[in-house]
Amino acid sequence: MPERRFFADVGRYFDRAAAFGSHPPGLLAQVRHCNSIYRFDFPVRRNDGSIDVVRAWRAEHSHHKLPVKGGIRFSPHVDEDEVMALAALMTYKCAIVDVPYGGAKGAVCIDVREHTAEEIERVTRRYAYELISKNFMGPAVDVPAPDLGTGAREMAWIADTYQAVRGDQIDALGCVTGKPLSQGGIAGRGEATGRGLFYVLREVCADADEMAPLGLSTGLDGKRVAVQGLGKVGYWVARLCHEAGARIVAVADISGTAVDPRGIDPAALRRHIADSGSVAGFPGAAVHDSPAAALEADCDVLIPAAVENQLTADNAPRIQARIILEGANGPTTPEADAVFQSRGVLVIPDVYANAGGVIVSYFEWLKNLSHVRFGRLERRYQERADNRLLDVIETATGTTLSADDRGQIVTPISELTVVNSGLEETMITAYHKIRETMRAVDGIEDLRTAAFHLAIDRVAEAYVQRGVFP
Ligand code: GLU
Repeated sequence: MPERRFFADVGRYFDRAAAFGSHPPGLLAQVRHCNSIYRFDFPVRRNDGSIDVVRAWRAEHSHHKLPVKGGIRFSPHVDEDEVMALAALMTYKCAIVDVPYGGAKGAVCIDVREHTAEEIERVTRRYAYELISKNFMGPAVDVPAPDLGTGAREMAWIADTYQAVRGDQIDALGCVTGKPLSQGGIAGRGEATGRGLFYVLREVCADADEMAPLGLSTGLDGKRVAVQGLGKVGYWVARLCHEAGARIVAVADISGTAVDPRGIDPAALRRHIADSGSVAGFPGAAVHDSPAAALEADCDVLIPAAVENQLTADNAPRIQARIILEGANGPTTPEADAVFQSRGVLVIPDVYANAGGVIVSYFEWLKNLSHVRFGRLERRYQERADNRLLDVIETATGTTLSADDRGQIVTPISELTVVNSGLEETMITAYHKIRETMRAVDGIEDLRTAAFHLAIDRVAEAYVQRGVFP
């Protein structure tokens, strides 16, 4: 099989969408190209005293808005092409959900399973130092976040390294997002991507006009869902779908796939994996060795939430789902996408569907720049105002609300409620904007092309308005 070129695949989606517009070729080329990429090698001392040389990158795809934004991936399989492709997806993703950033992505070519926590800390701090010293990081320049193989722990090390170098900057904490709550992070960031996916799926499934051509009933209740990947993204979307009444009929992690048509509780499966090391032996489920088995499961909704290039020309004809909700970045090759389109499968594309992470990163960055937790100023004021209003209603109507009823109405604002409501608002508004684009532009028949079309328009417009293309 020829080697996949991920950046070229993103470019094919871009070109397909650009063909429906009338932007001049030079402007389109500026939007499509990856503006800058910094590649570097650095030494890392292993615990046994030996030295490894590690390769790393940071790609800044588009500077039409600053800072640029995107995660850092630690993976032994990463290469420059992948980093550029993921940075490009970040540009379009931010534009689609109207988050004011250009796109970026970083990567370090290491296998985290083969390193101790101390070694990973040394790698992370050295990587951050390299970015800082080359002006590839900073709250106004480029703001990294977690991605595959990294999480809140790494982001805390990065923030600490930044503060050690640039501690006199008042907004230093806004240099990275996805930090632990105690280190300037925000409530709800850990589950944000999965929660965003859940909001999208719930919105799509509520629409009878969407469901009818797919032969599905409305609502999440009873929908049969298969999820590939039980990491940060897959776990949360599976759990929220399960809690909303969907049936999680197949779940895969790297050890294999658990299948149970009666439904799997993702939290129980995660506990089982934590205890036993694999999906094998999960009570009541049939287990396949291959994580790819989840993709071909008998289901209504498939959520690939692992890595790129999972749905290909090879397996696309065997996919049984009527809806594909892309949790990972780049899970579907253009060839598979064409198969799904011809079979009338509804594909909800990565470039929109998994934007929940960067949306809540945006809220975290705003929190860091404003130096105040969401809800802190208005919480008590709002609570008193609600209670006063209920007092007036009680007096006017001569009724008395029970403490329970009052508690249902007067719900004090917390950071988490503000974040989740902002996330829901952003995901749903963007969905309707994509649908509106589809209706407005003759010939666009799929959500991916519509989403890219919207992104291209927004990025191109930003360049034109800045006078880059007078
Ligand atoms: N790595 C995530 C993504 O691919 C989040 C990026 C961010 O929060 O900046 O969207």
